[in-house]
Amino acid sequence: MEVSSFPKCQKCGTGDLVPLSDFGNQGAPIHYKAWVCTNPDCGYNLKIRNGDVYINEPIGNGINGRQRNPVNF
Ligand SMILES: [Zn+2]
Repeated sequence: MEVSSFPKCQKCGTGDLVPLSDFGNQGAPIHYKAWVCTNPDCGYNLKIRNGDVYINEPIGNGINGRQRNPVNF
């Protein structure tokens, strides 16, 4: 079963580009802020920050599900 709702990565041609979301300074969600290739050997990514587009920035720790310390209320 293939899921073809995401665009194919133009770099490696095998991975898919999936959208990631983030949260802004005020905690407002920013949808589809970044797109990243699902192929770990490829690492192609595209990010939108302050209206500018950044292509293929080095991937830091946790672009794919940023880990934050759990908040205890
Ligand atoms: Zn790729």
